[in-house]
Amino acid sequence: MSVLVLGGAGYIGSHAVYQLLDRGETVVVVDNLETGQRQAVHPDAAFYEGDVRDHDFLRTVFEKNFAASSLVGESMKDPLKYYDNNVSGTQVLLQMMLEHDVKKIVFSSTAAVYGEPESVPITEDMPTRPTSTYGETKLIMEKLMKRTEEAHGISFVSLRYFNVAGARETGEIGEDHRPETHLVPIILQTALGQRPHITIFGDDYDTPDGTCIRDYVHVEDLIDAHLSALDYLREGGKSDIFNLGSSEGFSVKEMIDAARKVTRKDIPAGIGKRRSGDPSILIAGSDKAKQVLGWRPSRTSVAKIIEDAWKWHSSHPNGYRKEVST
Ligand code: UDP
Repeated sequence: MSVLVLGGAGYIGSHAVYQLLDRGETVVVVDNLETGQRQAVHPDAAFYEGDVRDHDFLRTVFEKNFAASSLVGESMKDPLKYYDNNVSGTQVLLQMMLEHDVKKIVFSSTAAVYGEPESVPITEDMPTRPTSTYGETKLIMEKLMKRTEEAHGISFVSLRYFNVAGARETGEIGEDHRPETHLVPIILQTALGQRPHITIFGDDYDTPDGTCIRDYVHVEDLIDAHLSALDYLREGGKSDIFNLGSSEGFSVKEMIDAARKVTRKDIPAGIGKRRSGDPSILIAGSDKAKQVLGWRPSRTSVAKIIEDAWKWHSSHPNGYRKEVST
């Protein structure tokens, strides 16, 4: 049975493709390469470059590859077109699934659906009050799936990611966003001397060292949860929502210190202004995923996350770009 990975050329999607192939699945990748990288797509996956909002394109992909099967949904980030890309994209996708009798979807959601939490750890039953458009569109996408399930019986698992970091242990694929905005890659680019320093976005939060606290989860553990979710749906599990995090919080300063230890590099850091929309503390309660999906994260230390990310960054200082000769 084939699995379609939307966004399979992106950071998280590419890791999903490698793990699905590792366990013998047939994998089809759709990516418009706006933020994804062609080189991140495993050569054994069938690759289609195009946009999920394009009915005809997506119909062709489904006609060629799917009689009836399962889907791994992957998020598509575009800061200026969240609604169009996310909400309209999901709508077209669900239509195509109905047309081709594809009845299962594993969906990439986000901790951003919660907004500023009243307390931590955050459990799935807590209120969803997104403070960003991104979080809001993901919440709408979850609701779209719920309605489609009620009307047409498509079952879904929505996985609410906390802070995803790290890379495949072999170092062959990893995180490469352009421009890079995420903490761990920025810290490691600073360790490589590609940035003069890292700016810590605010040290006046109500946390022990004043910097924001986040819950970092290893991308390979995160993908393990997707495979468990796929098995769960294939075995007839009912639609549900799960947090994916490590249940432990680390401050920005703690992350920089951890990276100094792993890389043995001096990583200069300065304090800057708060970044708007950043909640002070986000920590997942992930017991539900462990209990219901049988998720067993095994790379839970921040040192391991940074070590694996460092393998990727130090062996691919230019990411997926070819070395530039000077
Ligand atoms: N952060 C920072 N400097 C940077 C990038 C990120 O201080 O150059 C902080 C950011 O404010 C947040 C944390 O690091 O508290 C994680 O940010 P990231 O963008 O990686 O993930 P997010 O929490 O936004 O999903």
